[in-house]
Amino acid sequence: MRVLVTGGAGFIGSHLCRRLLEDGHDVISVDNYYTGTRQNIQDLLTNSRFEAIRHDVTFPLYVEVDRIYNFACPASPIHYQRDPVQTIKTSVMGAINLLGLAKRTGARILQASTSEVYGDPECHPQTEDYWGRVNPIGIRSCYDEGKRSAETLFFDYHRQHNLAIKVIRIFNTYGPGMQLNDGRVISNFIVQALRGEEITIYGDGSQTRSFCFVSDLINGISAMMDSPEDFTGPVNLGSPNESSIAEIAETIVELCGSSSRVTYKPLPQDDPRQRQPDISLAKERLGWQPTVSLQDGLRETIQYFRRVLEQG
Ligand code: NAD
Ligand code: UDP
Repeated sequence: MRVLVTGGAGFIGSHLCRRLLEDGHDVISVDNYYTGTRQNIQDLLTNSRFEAIRHDVTFPLYVEVDRIYNFACPASPIHYQRDPVQTIKTSVMGAINLLGLAKRTGARILQASTSEVYGDPECHPQTEDYWGRVNPIGIRSCYDEGKRSAETLFFDYHRQHNLAIKVIRIFNTYGPGMQLNDGRVISNFIVQALRGEEITIYGDGSQTRSFCFVSDLINGISAMMDSPEDFTGPVNLGSPNESSIAEIAETIVELCGSSSRVTYKPLPQDDPRQRQPDISLAKERLGWQPTVSLQDGLRETIQYFRRVLEQG
């Protein structure tokens, strides 16, 4: 099939392009390189079934494809807060443009939504029928509300135009391919530990997240795209193993064999207190659950960052 991946040069998008090529598809990556890099897809550029287009999804796109994975959007708080207006435009106008493309071509389209649609949740673990607790006017809103609006657009195009849609809600994912300056917690802590710098815990470190290794996520994304047409989601994809940020810091320092010490910085506004997906729906409908342990996933990610730092 001819497959379009928006955000194809990003962390998850580049892993997805690689997997789709392995599965025998023709792949077009569309990216404006806001947070992604050509280095992420360097190894794919010589593949005759791969094409990389520089394009901003807030503008219409004309290509002929059978399937669309909409992953374009900065995902790390420091990056999506740098230009919040562009962030919400990317989610909302990006969704409208890609849904328009799906309508014209008849392509099946999958949206990379997020656990952020649950905001700072009162329901724990989060199930897909929980509507969330999101601040509409805070510093995370450009991302959270943008992704919520994109979900609305997907379901309205589905109801109004009968589009074949798939919506996944991705929980915190990490792994090789993240940028040194990504700003999210796992990459920050690993890079700090390897450089012997202080580990920056925001707040007291008691807030929790559940971390999924990228190869597990990619398996879930594939299973969702290939699932029967009547299963639209939204479906949670993530690891149900929850850890506090303080525990994550300790584990990373130990696995890196580092002597870095922890330092405490102010907790950013609206930082969710706790987050853990209920993945019963993904297990039941997709036969999917993560298999890589946190220790193994972190070891592989540490190895990757060691190589990146050595290469300077
Ligand atoms: P990333 O920042 O590495 O990738 C995003 C990619 O989108 C980058 O390559 C960036 O250059 C591109 N992009 C941004 N704005 C664009 C625009 N206007 N036009 C074209 N390309 C644009 O982040 P990621 O972690 O790979 O996230 C990919 C997707 O998955 C995002 O939609 C994100 O919201 C979603 N997601 C990720 C996580 C996670 O933990 N990694 C969790 C939930 C949801
Ligand atoms: N965090 C931290 N130190 C860092 C980066 C992040 O303590 O250097 C915290 C952050 O405040 C949040 C958690 O780690 O509570 C996860 O942050 P991340 O930006 O990775 O993802 P998100 O908050 O979007 O889940």
